[in-house]
Amino acid sequence: MAIRKETGIIIQSKDIGDSDRLISLAGESQVRMNFISKGIRKSKRRAIISTEIGCMVEVDYYDQSEKDWKSTKEIHLINRYDELKKDYIGTLFVLYITELTSYLYPEGESHPFLYQLLSGSLETSNTNGFRKEILPFFKLRALTHMGHFPSEFYCFTCGEEILSKKKAYFSVDSREFLCSDCHPIPKDHLPVLKLFHIMLSKKFSNVLSVYPRETEYKEGDLILNQFLRSLFGKELKSYFEFYKTIGDL
Ligand SMILES: [Zn+2]
Repeated sequence: MAIRKETGIIIQSKDIGDSDRLISLAGESQVRMNFISKGIRKSKRRAIISTEIGCMVEVDYYDQSEKDWKSTKEIHLINRYDELKKDYIGTLFVLYITELTSYLYPEGESHPFLYQLLSGSLETSNTNGFRKEILPFFKLRALTHMGHFPSEFYCFTCGEEILSKKKAYFSVDSREFLCSDCHPIPKDHLPVLKLFHIMLSKKFSNVLSVYPRETEYKEGDLILNQFLRSLFGKELKSYFEFYKTIGDL
């Protein structure tokens, strides 16, 4: 049987039976797949850490097209993001961002962009420490890429660019931008929408240097959390503890 390889970040990891574990990868090149690691929880030779959530791994697997999951031959740990996972907030962040990716990434589809975004976010947080500003950045990039969030900033009614208007609003319910010329708007989102616009065109480190104020990131994250709630119809399991711990609840 042919052996193939995939590199990716583990976005789901669950125990099956007494000794097996099933992992799901946001992969570098192939569709989202599940891999079963037989006997890993009782193995003396193979390290259980290579199936831990939020690790970058390379999987050697048997190419069986008829199954819902692939049998693994070997799993090699590439990066555990140890610095990030050393403290409680970093660990909660990893749980949160992988759960979010898992919700956004349909099985059987291929989105190398999500792998890049996720591995980049873990890498930068591991190197420079976790920053709350990464949360709206990650969500906005992922949501626009998956076609959930609009990537162009035009008023739904007049069709004009909202970024040049006096005030503007993003309606989570209708998923539309509205300008203050056409609508009485309940709240001015313009500073946040300008930040969103920058987030879609610049690297995270550059966004931080162009836009150092924390206020808009926080408000942007609030809007995106409402958006996620309306998209998934529920809260992520890791949400409450994470947001309570970072003091944003
Ligand atoms: Zn308008």
